[in-house]
Amino acid sequence: MFRSIRWRIATTFVILILACMGGLSAYLLHFVKGNYLDDLRTQLTCQAQLVGDITQPYLDRSQIEDIDPLAVNMGNSIHARITIIGRDGVVLGDSEKDPRTMDNHRGRPEVATALSSGTGSSIRHSAALDCDMMYVAVPITVDDNFYGVARVALPLVGINQSLGHINRMIIGGIGITALIAILVALQISRSTTQPLKQLSRMSRRIASGELDQRIQLTSRDEVGELAEEFNLMSVKLKESVTLLTRERDRIEAVLSTIGDGILIVDEQNRVTMVNRAAEKLFELPMDKVLGLSFIELARDHELDDILQRCRSTGKQQTGLVETTPEKHSLRVVATPLGSGSLVHIQDLTQLRHLETVRRDFVANISHELRTPIASLKVLAETLQQGAINDKAVAPDFLDRINMETDRLAQMVNELSELSRIESGEVPLKLEPIDLAGVVKRAAERLRTQAERGQLHLEVITPPNLSKALADEEQVEQVVINLLHNAIKFTPPQGSITISIRAEDNFIRLSVADTGCGIPADDLPRIFERFYKADKARAGGGTGLGLAIARHIVDAHHGKIWAESEEGKGSIFTFTLPVVSKS
Ligand code: ADP
Repeated sequence: MFRSIRWRIATTFVILILACMGGLSAYLLHFVKGNYLDDLRTQLTCQAQLVGDITQPYLDRSQIEDIDPLAVNMGNSIHARITIIGRDGVVLGDSEKDPRTMDNHRGRPEVATALSSGTGSSIRHSAALDCDMMYVAVPITVDDNFYGVARVALPLVGINQSLGHINRMIIGGIGITALIAILVALQISRSTTQPLKQLSRMSRRIASGELDQRIQLTSRDEVGELAEEFNLMSVKLKESVTLLTRERDRIEAVLSTIGDGILIVDEQNRVTMVNRAAEKLFELPMDKVLGLSFIELARDHELDDILQRCRSTGKQQTGLVETTPEKHSLRVVATPLGSGSLVHIQDLTQLRHLETVRRDFVANISHELRTPIASLKVLAETLQQGAINDKAVAPDFLDRINMETDRLAQMVNELSELSRIESGEVPLKLEPIDLAGVVKRAAERLRTQAERGQLHLEVITPPNLSKALADEEQVEQVVINLLHNAIKFTPPQGSITISIRAEDNFIRLSVADTGCGIPADDLPRIFERFYKADKARAGGGTGLGLAIARHIVDAHHGKIWAESEEGKGSIFTFTLPVVSKS
């Protein structure tokens, strides 16, 4: 309780007030008592002088025996104790006691003072009357003749009673005043601390994120100024927080859209921030990533080494890492931050793949061109060297030259077709098409070829098939490419089945054969340009048919894939969107 300013102020006030009032009342009591005693002393001095004047003639006439009754009379009339003391200190008369029983009074302080300096007084306890008394003694003198001492005494009971009364009044006054003072002090401290409490409440709310809090204070004192400053501060705070939030959102937007993984790790190697690309790269959602150590997240020592090098050298570190078993090619840049490090991870897997594809493409195209060109050269040279005149072989040689030239022409045609499709030069003529009709037409075109290969060709189409939204000519090209491959790679007595079925918003077309199948290692790559699964068997093809098919299907927002088992056969499937009903 006393830790609060309110109670500290109140207590200080009360203590101060009580101390002041206590001091004041002590002074007052002392002052009043002094006044009372002074008045009493003056009164007793006058009375003592009067007593002395009355007694002097008796002393002068040595009527010693009359002095005691006189003292009793005077004592009764002024209600005070009167004592007449002789020149030698012997008590001659006393209004309260028998003088004969009283000892010599010369040594009494008031008597001694009266003898030495005129008037003497003293306050002390009277054993005879058992109470505090004030004694005032004056010498009885006339014309330098000293007769004795007259002493008047009064008990201080009355004064003490009056002083006790005054004391009680003062204490009561102090009590009431202190009570009022406590209430006033509490009120003052309450009104002083109220705005501070309000300030503290507001601070708590601001700290919990309610930045619109304002203090309504009208006072123009220091607390009012503080409230004004506080309001100003919360406005500035809100501005700063808004600015920071905007900046953070902007950075988050940038980080979430860039394709590279960005991570921040703290001094204890704990991940404190990751962007979406990094989440994807490490295949863990953000809430699981935060708080993990970098090695737990990366699960790769080479990656962790780069970070550790950056931490130990305090310099940026770069490295190329091939992760296992995912086989991701990563370029990692670790940069020291004030506390912790920033890790930038660039996934080069796709780039590397493209690079391989490009290299393969160049190698393949060179290879594909070299073979027919070499045979053309051999055939031409043989003819040149005289075979032209040999009627038996010349026509055959010329046929083969024709065939090789056709093959080259087909390759060039397919390449230019592929490049046109890839570059988007061939516009899609999207229209509702009857896929069953397209398939039947394509089957008819290649039926002779299939029969020549002793293959059974079957087309299965469901009734009432929805129309597909596609470019008829290009779709027919895809079906022909797939069918052509199936015929090419299926040995005699095999069968080929083309089937269509509707599926949600797509139409699905499959070409299944009972052919040689495709090795599992080659399967993911057969849609690449020039890729041939089995180079020996695929001798006749260009390796471009599936690449063209994939590009056409992609352009229709469909999917194409292959399933195959070596030695058993393959199924090539693609989907096309149906015409929407609306
Ligand atoms: P190609 O002109 O060589 O047929 P494609 O791009 O059409 O080129 O096919 C690429 C390769 O895919 C082929 O060389 C072959 O190895 C494999 N392939 C395609 N279709 C089949 C199939 N039905 N059965 C077995 N292998 C196939």
